[in-house]
Amino acid sequence: MEVLIITTVVVLLVCAAISGLVVRGLKRQAPPAVPPAPEPGTIAPPKQAPPQEAPLAEAPPREAAPEVEAPPAEPAVVEPAIEVPEPTAGRLVRLRSRLARSQSSLGKGLLALLSRDVLDDDTWDEIEETLIAADLGVGPTQELVENLKTEVRVRGSRTPDEVRTLLRDQLIALIGADTDRSLHAVRQPDERPSVTLVVGVNGTGKTTTTGKLARVLIADGRTVLLGAADTFRAAAADQLQTWGERVGARTVRGPEGGDPASVAFDAVKQAAGDDVDAVLIDTAGRLHTKTGLMDELGKVKRVVEKQSPVHEVLLVLDATTGQNGLTQARVFAEVVDVTGIVLSKLDGTAKGGIVVQVQRELGVPVKLVGLGEGPDDLAPFDPAAFVDALLEG
Ligand code: GDP
Repeated sequence: MEVLIITTVVVLLVCAAISGLVVRGLKRQAPPAVPPAPEPGTIAPPKQAPPQEAPLAEAPPREAAPEVEAPPAEPAVVEPAIEVPEPTAGRLVRLRSRLARSQSSLGKGLLALLSRDVLDDDTWDEIEETLIAADLGVGPTQELVENLKTEVRVRGSRTPDEVRTLLRDQLIALIGADTDRSLHAVRQPDERPSVTLVVGVNGTGKTTTTGKLARVLIADGRTVLLGAADTFRAAAADQLQTWGERVGARTVRGPEGGDPASVAFDAVKQAAGDDVDAVLIDTAGRLHTKTGLMDELGKVKRVVEKQSPVHEVLLVLDATTGQNGLTQARVFAEVVDVTGIVLSKLDGTAKGGIVVQVQRELGVPVKLVGLGEGPDDLAPFDPAAFVDALLEG
């Protein structure tokens, strides 16, 4: 009997255990009926769309919805921003690489020749030829060669550094380290504006130079008014006005083909009224005959002088034109009292010696040099920076 009871209990326990395991296993396989709700305060991830089967045939293209034209925007009034030109102090040093590039044959050639172990007659002849080829002119070349010969004799041996220093000193002396190259473009003691005439043959870069010069003066804190007295070249006045607008300088202009002297007169008159420091007058240089030029330029100057002295007459000379340029310079110097030379396009020639020759010819200093077409590529001339650039090339 006892055995029967124990056997029944064991059988019952085994059945219970088996049925429990089966129920647990079924529960594990069943999917959750409801997805868990996101916790409050969190953003539920987007529901994933069930993967779609690839369409069997391409759906017909939907007709494009007609474009709705946006109403035209009100045109914005854009005031041209006034530019702040680059400071002029040390500008030639900053533009040195341009000079070095164009003048490298001159500087390198001279240094190589002077560094030879023996400086015989042939070598001195070569030095002379190099200088002449660089437009230094016969007189200055002979002078420089004589000085170099003397220095070499006195010093005896020459290290490369000594040769460089010797040549540097001699070239700076030849150009004129102590020459006054200041621009007389400051307000006069009687408070009237200074007057500058910019003269030169058309094509030399006269109008461009006048525009760049306005930037030079403005960079140095002056106020400027421009006079477009080149009334013969249709685009000249527009060109000048554009230069002026960029830096906030007003341009006085007359009718195309009008009398240049009357434009110059108006400019000087308005400059006094506008209370500016300097008035720059761009003149026409289309005349190649001395008489015509004398008549025209002489008249502009005389007419201006009825109101104010002319404080500066800047002759713009294209450095790439060599002897031709010098001939033109002589004619201009006879017609007006040139007070300073602007050598334009010095970036485009290896003939940097023209600086010395033109100063000698006219007895007037080079005051500015043009080294490119960029707005701030006009630099006050500095002999030491110029020579350093020659020898750097
Ligand atoms: P203008 O007829 O004498 O008034 O001559 P422009 O001012 O119109 O200049 C004639 C050309 O020379 C223009 O293309 C100028 O950009 C260019 N020019 C002026 N100055 C320089 C300079 O220093 N270097 C270079 N490379 N070009 C210059």
